[in-house]
Amino acid sequence: MRNVDILVGLQHGDEGKGRVVDYFAFNYSCVARFNGGPNAGHTVYTASSDEPLKLNMIPSGIVHKNVFNYIGPGCVVDPLSLILEIKRVEDTLGYKIKPSQLGLSEKAHLIIPEYVEKDCKNNSHLGTTKKGIGPCYAAKSDRVGMRVGDVLKKQPYADFLEEYVVGSDDRFLDHLNSGEVLCEGAQGTFLDIDHGPYPYVTSSNTLASHACTSLGFSLHKVRDIFGVFKAYATRVGQDPFFVKWDPESYKSISEIEFGTTTGRQRDIGPISIADLKYSIEVNGVTKLIMTKADVLCGHKFNVLFNGDSINFSYDKCDNSSKFLSYIQFLEFNLGMPIFNISTGPNRLDWLSKI
Ligand code: GDP
Repeated sequence: MRNVDILVGLQHGDEGKGRVVDYFAFNYSCVARFNGGPNAGHTVYTASSDEPLKLNMIPSGIVHKNVFNYIGPGCVVDPLSLILEIKRVEDTLGYKIKPSQLGLSEKAHLIIPEYVEKDCKNNSHLGTTKKGIGPCYAAKSDRVGMRVGDVLKKQPYADFLEEYVVGSDDRFLDHLNSGEVLCEGAQGTFLDIDHGPYPYVTSSNTLASHACTSLGFSLHKVRDIFGVFKAYATRVGQDPFFVKWDPESYKSISEIEFGTTTGRQRDIGPISIADLKYSIEVNGVTKLIMTKADVLCGHKFNVLFNGDSINFSYDKCDNSSKFLSYIQFLEFNLGMPIFNISTGPNRLDWLSKI
């Protein structure tokens, strides 16, 4: 049964995947995170509150009471920050999160304070989030890591997290066997440790295919692969290959581009058609989703294509010829239609069919 879809970012992360997952989650019984740790930051606006829900580790389907949100074996988890996140989400949503809504795999690896210290000391030149994620993956590869199921019981915070751990791998299997699963990728294609601009990458694989190995299901179960990209490009952390716009000339864009997790300013720049085409191909994208189209309204901007810089501008995300020419240029040169266009951070800010 092909009942698994995978959603990934096609750029450098921060594409707005969280709000897309939140919107799509209505169609699934389970949303599963398959990579990274609390270095991810997803922002979701709930229907009931003006306050955005900031998520680091918890999958973005958490607003939906009937969805099981699974933090899978390939993730790394800081137990204390997860506890704080659960409490923060419970405060925003106004109810307790039950084990039927959230599960933590006993095979996920734990981030301990020593890893955070190491991250702060060793990797400042890369601009990591300093959350201990790289050292945790390194310890895992070195076979000296600590898995949630092995050590959690010995820790003082065990009681709080244990209810989310016990039986969660079996619950995920139930959803794989008889539910509908959406795998949520963190970061983006150009941060993949093997396929991104090493060493300016994250410490895990971010490509769609990694969902299969990380969560443990057959390639035959995969149905759609959603590729999410922003109408422009952003980058946080070091990357000498990233082409930048002058932040002063694009002040209103620059001002909204701060990392959800770190609060760091992101560099902004043009989309590169060659990069996006690579992302589509390497992930096997079947449905393309564009976000933040509204942010470019009123700006003159460029796109990198075949060594040239092509200029565009539009005032509104609507049927106007200026907006359509940007969308059609992308669709034609990327070789596939854009399935959905997001025009704002709220749940219903979509322009589905033009
Ligand atoms: P993720 O890491 O890919 O999940 O991205 P984030 O959740 O960090 O998204 C970045 C920011 O973009 C968040 O503050 C979202 O609320 C916001 N966002 C997402 N889609 C849109 C959109 O279409 N328009 C605008 N203006 N903001 C958006």
